[in-house]
Amino acid sequence: MATITLDKLTKRFGKTEVIHGIDLDVKDGEFVVFVGPSGCGKSTTLRMIAGLEEVSGGEIRIGGRVVNELDPKSRNIAMVFQNYAIYPHMTVRQNIGIGLYTSKLEKGEKARRVEEAARILGLDPYLDRRPAALSGGQRQRVAMGRAMVRDPVAFLFDEPLSNLDAQLRAQMRIEIKALHQRLGATIAYVTHDQVEAMTMADRIVVMRDGYILQQGRPMELYSNPVDVFTARFIGTPS
Ligand code: ADP
Ligand code: MG
Repeated sequence: MATITLDKLTKRFGKTEVIHGIDLDVKDGEFVVFVGPSGCGKSTTLRMIAGLEEVSGGEIRIGGRVVNELDPKSRNIAMVFQNYAIYPHMTVRQNIGIGLYTSKLEKGEKARRVEEAARILGLDPYLDRRPAALSGGQRQRVAMGRAMVRDPVAFLFDEPLSNLDAQLRAQMRIEIKALHQRLGATIAYVTHDQVEAMTMADRIVVMRDGYILQQGRPMELYSNPVDVFTARFIGTPS
Protein backbone atom coordinates (compact mmCIF):
# COMPACT_ATOMS: atom_id res chain seq x y z
CA MET A 1 0.00 0.00 0.00
CA ALA A 2 1.04 3.62 -0.37
CA THR A 3 1.04 6.96 1.42
CA ILE A 4 -1.29 9.60 -0.06
CA THR A 5 0.00 13.17 0.23
CA LEU A 6 -2.08 16.30 -0.36
CA ASP A 7 0.16 19.32 -0.81
CA LYS A 8 -1.63 22.71 -0.86
CA LEU A 9 -4.48 20.99 -2.67
CA THR A 10 -6.96 23.46 -4.13
CA LYS A 11 -10.22 23.03 -6.04
CA ARG A 12 -12.26 25.63 -7.89
CA PHE A 13 -15.57 25.09 -9.65
CA GLY A 14 -15.65 28.00 -12.09
CA LYS A 15 -14.68 31.02 -10.03
CA THR A 16 -15.70 29.52 -6.72
CA GLU A 17 -12.90 28.00 -4.68
CA VAL A 18 -14.24 25.13 -2.56
CA ILE A 19 -10.96 23.55 -1.31
CA HIS A 20 -8.43 26.09 -0.10
CA GLY A 21 -4.96 24.56 -0.23
CA ILE A 22 -5.14 21.68 2.21
CA ASP A 23 -2.10 19.70 3.40
CA LEU A 24 -2.47 16.12 4.58
CA ASP A 25 -0.65 12.77 4.66
CA VAL A 26 -2.65 9.57 4.78
CA LYS A 27 0.17 7.24 5.75
CA ASP A 28 0.84 3.76 4.42
CA GLY A 29 -1.59 1.50 6.27
CA GLU A 30 -3.41 4.33 8.03
CA PHE A 31 -7.21 4.60 8.37
CA VAL A 32 -8.12 8.31 8.11
CA VAL A 33 -11.75 9.38 8.52
CA PHE A 34 -13.00 12.71 7.12
CA VAL A 35 -15.90 14.39 8.91
CA GLY A 36 -17.56 17.79 8.62
CA PRO A 37 -20.85 19.42 7.64
CA SER A 38 -22.47 18.81 4.29
CA GLY A 39 -20.79 20.86 1.53
CA CYS A 40 -17.43 21.27 3.33
CA GLY A 41 -15.51 19.44 0.58
CA LYS A 42 -15.11 15.84 1.74
CA SER A 43 -16.35 14.17 -1.45
CA THR A 44 -14.50 16.61 -3.69
CA THR A 45 -11.27 15.79 -1.86
CA LEU A 46 -11.77 12.04 -2.33
CA ARG A 47 -12.76 12.51 -5.96
CA MET A 48 -9.58 14.46 -6.66
CA ILE A 49 -7.50 11.70 -5.04
CA ALA A 50 -9.27 9.11 -7.19
CA GLY A 51 -8.75 11.23 -10.31
CA LEU A 52 -12.49 11.71 -10.89
CA GLU A 53 -12.14 15.47 -10.46
CA GLU A 54 -9.35 17.70 -11.76
CA VAL A 55 -7.02 19.47 -9.36
CA SER A 56 -7.02 23.30 -9.59
CA GLY A 57 -3.83 23.85 -7.60
CA GLY A 58 -1.27 22.03 -5.49
CA GLU A 59 -0.29 18.39 -5.73
CA ILE A 60 -1.51 14.91 -4.98
CA ARG A 61 1.22 12.32 -4.52
CA ILE A 62 0.65 8.62 -4.17
CA GLY A 63 3.64 6.62 -2.98
CA GLY A 64 5.74 9.73 -3.63
CA ARG A 65 4.69 10.07 -7.28
CA VAL A 66 2.76 13.12 -8.46
CA VAL A 67 -0.52 11.87 -9.94
CA ASN A 68 -2.26 15.17 -10.85
CA GLU A 69 -2.21 14.34 -14.55
CA LEU A 70 -2.85 10.60 -14.27
CA ASP A 71 -6.21 9.15 -15.25
CA PRO A 72 -8.13 7.24 -12.55
CA LYS A 73 -7.11 3.81 -13.85
CA SER A 74 -3.37 4.49 -13.72
CA ARG A 75 -3.64 5.61 -10.10
CA ASN A 76 -4.85 2.16 -9.08
CA ILE A 77 -6.97 3.41 -6.21
CA ALA A 78 -10.18 1.63 -5.24
CA MET A 79 -13.15 3.93 -4.66
CA VAL A 80 -16.08 2.29 -2.89
CA PHE A 81 -19.42 4.12 -3.11
CA GLN A 82 -22.71 3.81 -1.30
CA ASN A 83 -24.46 2.07 -4.17
CA TYR A 84 -22.76 -0.97 -5.53
CA ALA A 85 -23.51 -2.44 -8.91
CA ILE A 86 -23.82 -6.16 -8.23
CA TYR A 87 -25.08 -8.15 -11.21
CA PRO A 88 -27.91 -10.51 -10.22
CA HIS A 89 -27.40 -12.92 -13.13
CA MET A 90 -23.73 -13.51 -12.30
CA THR A 91 -22.17 -15.60 -9.55
CA VAL A 92 -20.09 -14.11 -6.73
CA ARG A 93 -16.96 -15.35 -8.54
CA GLN A 94 -17.99 -13.53 -11.73
CA ASN A 95 -19.05 -10.38 -9.89
CA ILE A 96 -15.68 -10.14 -8.16
CA GLY A 97 -13.90 -11.03 -11.40
CA ILE A 98 -15.35 -7.94 -13.10
CA GLY A 99 -12.63 -6.03 -11.24
CA LEU A 100 -10.09 -7.71 -13.53
CA TYR A 101 -12.14 -7.49 -16.72
CA THR A 102 -9.69 -5.19 -18.52
CA SER A 103 -6.60 -6.60 -16.79
CA LYS A 104 -3.86 -8.26 -18.83
CA LEU A 105 -3.09 -10.81 -16.14
CA GLU A 106 -3.26 -14.40 -17.30
CA LYS A 107 -6.40 -16.39 -16.55
CA GLY A 108 -4.95 -18.53 -13.77
CA GLU A 109 -3.63 -15.47 -11.93
CA LYS A 110 -7.03 -13.77 -12.25
CA ALA A 111 -8.77 -16.82 -10.79
CA ARG A 112 -6.22 -16.96 -7.97
CA ARG A 113 -6.80 -13.30 -7.08
CA VAL A 114 -10.57 -13.70 -7.06
CA GLU A 115 -10.28 -16.68 -4.73
CA GLU A 116 -7.84 -14.90 -2.45
CA ALA A 117 -10.13 -11.86 -2.16
CA ALA A 118 -13.08 -14.15 -1.45
CA ARG A 119 -11.09 -15.93 1.27
CA ILE A 120 -10.05 -12.67 2.94
CA LEU A 121 -13.66 -11.47 2.87
CA GLY A 122 -15.10 -14.78 4.07
CA LEU A 123 -16.92 -15.26 0.78
CA ASP A 124 -15.23 -18.48 -0.30
CA PRO A 125 -18.26 -20.67 0.55
CA TYR A 126 -20.43 -18.50 -1.72
CA LEU A 127 -18.24 -18.18 -4.82
CA ASP A 128 -20.69 -20.03 -7.06
CA ARG A 129 -23.88 -18.50 -5.66
CA ARG A 130 -25.80 -15.63 -7.15
CA PRO A 131 -26.31 -12.37 -5.21
CA ALA A 132 -29.99 -13.16 -4.50
CA ALA A 133 -28.78 -15.92 -2.17
CA LEU A 134 -26.59 -13.49 -0.16
CA SER A 135 -27.25 -11.15 2.76
CA GLY A 136 -26.86 -7.38 2.34
CA GLY A 137 -23.51 -7.48 4.13
CA GLN A 138 -22.24 -10.29 1.93
CA ARG A 139 -23.25 -8.35 -1.17
CA GLN A 140 -21.29 -5.37 0.04
CA ARG A 141 -18.29 -7.62 0.56
CA VAL A 142 -18.61 -8.75 -3.07
CA ALA A 143 -18.25 -5.11 -4.09
CA MET A 144 -15.17 -4.77 -1.90
CA GLY A 145 -13.77 -7.96 -3.43
CA ARG A 146 -14.14 -6.44 -6.86
CA ALA A 147 -12.04 -3.48 -5.70
CA MET A 148 -9.48 -5.70 -3.94
CA VAL A 149 -8.59 -7.97 -6.87
CA ARG A 150 -6.97 -5.04 -8.65
CA ASP A 151 -4.48 -4.92 -5.80
CA PRO A 152 -5.06 -1.19 -5.23
CA VAL A 153 -2.55 1.05 -3.46
CA ALA A 154 -5.33 2.61 -1.34
CA PHE A 155 -9.08 2.46 -0.69
CA LEU A 156 -11.39 5.48 -0.67
CA PHE A 157 -14.86 5.19 0.88
CA ASP A 158 -17.50 7.92 0.54
CA GLU A 159 -20.25 7.32 3.11
CA PRO A 160 -20.42 3.65 2.15
CA LEU A 161 -22.82 2.64 4.91
CA SER A 162 -25.32 5.48 4.92
CA ASN A 163 -28.08 3.53 3.12
CA LEU A 164 -27.90 0.53 5.41
CA ASP A 165 -29.97 -0.25 8.50
CA ALA A 166 -28.36 0.07 11.94
CA GLN A 167 -27.63 -3.63 12.36
CA LEU A 168 -25.95 -4.01 9.00
CA ARG A 169 -23.99 -0.79 9.55
CA ALA A 170 -22.61 -2.18 12.80
CA GLN A 171 -21.62 -5.41 11.06
CA MET A 172 -19.99 -3.58 8.13
CA ARG A 173 -18.00 -1.33 10.46
CA ILE A 174 -16.38 -4.43 11.89
CA GLU A 175 -15.82 -5.94 8.47
CA ILE A 176 -14.24 -2.87 6.92
CA LYS A 177 -11.98 -2.48 9.94
CA ALA A 178 -11.00 -6.16 9.70
CA LEU A 179 -10.25 -5.67 6.01
CA HIS A 180 -8.04 -2.72 6.92
CA GLN A 181 -6.10 -4.78 9.42
CA ARG A 182 -5.74 -7.86 7.24
CA LEU A 183 -4.54 -5.93 4.19
CA GLY A 184 -2.63 -3.23 6.04
CA ALA A 185 -4.61 -0.98 3.70
CA THR A 186 -4.27 2.78 3.35
CA ILE A 187 -7.85 4.06 3.73
CA ALA A 188 -9.49 7.49 3.40
CA TYR A 189 -13.09 7.25 4.61
CA VAL A 190 -15.84 9.89 4.64
CA THR A 191 -18.75 9.59 7.05
CA HIS A 192 -21.30 11.68 8.91
CA ASP A 193 -21.70 8.97 11.55
CA GLN A 194 -19.70 9.65 14.71
CA VAL A 195 -19.74 6.01 15.79
CA GLU A 196 -18.01 5.09 12.53
CA ALA A 197 -15.49 7.89 12.97
CA MET A 198 -14.72 7.07 16.60
CA THR A 199 -14.47 3.29 16.21
CA MET A 200 -12.74 2.99 12.84
CA ALA A 201 -10.32 5.89 12.57
CA ASP A 202 -6.63 5.90 13.37
CA ARG A 203 -6.99 9.64 12.79
CA ILE A 204 -10.01 11.89 12.29
CA VAL A 205 -9.74 14.92 9.99
CA VAL A 206 -12.39 17.60 10.64
CA MET A 207 -13.17 19.72 7.57
CA ARG A 208 -15.05 23.01 7.41
CA ASP A 209 -15.72 25.19 4.35
CA GLY A 210 -12.85 23.74 2.33
CA TYR A 211 -10.29 23.81 5.14
CA ILE A 212 -8.94 21.23 7.57
CA LEU A 213 -10.01 22.57 10.93
CA GLN A 214 -8.55 19.96 13.22
CA GLN A 215 -7.12 16.46 13.14
CA GLY A 216 -6.04 13.86 15.65
CA ARG A 217 -6.68 10.48 17.15
CA PRO A 218 -10.35 9.97 18.08
CA MET A 219 -9.67 10.37 21.81
CA GLU A 220 -7.61 13.53 21.25
CA LEU A 221 -10.53 15.15 19.46
CA TYR A 222 -12.91 13.83 22.07
CA SER A 223 -10.98 15.46 24.93
CA ASN A 224 -9.97 18.60 23.04
CA PRO A 225 -12.52 19.58 20.37
CA VAL A 226 -11.58 22.81 18.65
CA ASP A 227 -15.15 24.10 18.32
CA VAL A 228 -18.79 23.44 19.00
CA PHE A 229 -19.38 21.43 15.81
CA THR A 230 -16.56 19.03 16.63
CA ALA A 231 -17.64 18.80 20.25
CA ARG A 232 -21.20 17.95 19.22
CA PHE A 233 -20.11 15.58 16.48
CA ILE A 234 -17.61 13.64 18.56
CA GLY A 235 -19.19 14.04 21.96
CA THR A 236 -22.85 13.18 21.45
CA PRO A 237 -23.82 9.55 21.11
CA SER A 238 -26.43 8.97 18.39
P1 ADP B 1 -19.29 17.21 1.07
O1 ADP B 1 -18.95 15.89 0.43
O2 ADP B 1 -18.43 17.54 2.24
O3 ADP B 1 -20.74 17.31 1.44
P2 ADP B 1 -18.68 18.30 -1.54
O4 ADP B 1 -17.26 17.96 -1.73
O5 ADP B 1 -19.70 17.47 -2.25
O6 ADP B 1 -19.02 18.38 0.02
O7 ADP B 1 -18.91 19.81 -2.01
C1 ADP B 1 -18.03 20.85 -1.63
C2 ADP B 1 -18.50 22.14 -2.28
O8 ADP B 1 -18.28 22.07 -3.69
C3 ADP B 1 -19.98 22.42 -2.10
O9 ADP B 1 -20.13 23.82 -1.95
C4 ADP B 1 -20.60 21.95 -3.40
O10 ADP B 1 -21.76 22.68 -3.69
C5 ADP B 1 -19.49 22.26 -4.40
N1 ADP B 1 -19.49 21.34 -5.54
C6 ADP B 1 -19.30 20.00 -5.50
N2 ADP B 1 -19.33 19.45 -6.73
C7 ADP B 1 -19.56 20.49 -7.59
C8 ADP B 1 -19.67 20.60 -9.02
N3 ADP B 1 -19.56 19.52 -9.81
N4 ADP B 1 -19.89 21.83 -9.54
C9 ADP B 1 -19.97 22.93 -8.76
N5 ADP B 1 -19.86 22.90 -7.42
C10 ADP B 1 -19.64 21.69 -6.82
MG1 MG C 1 -20.15 14.20 0.09
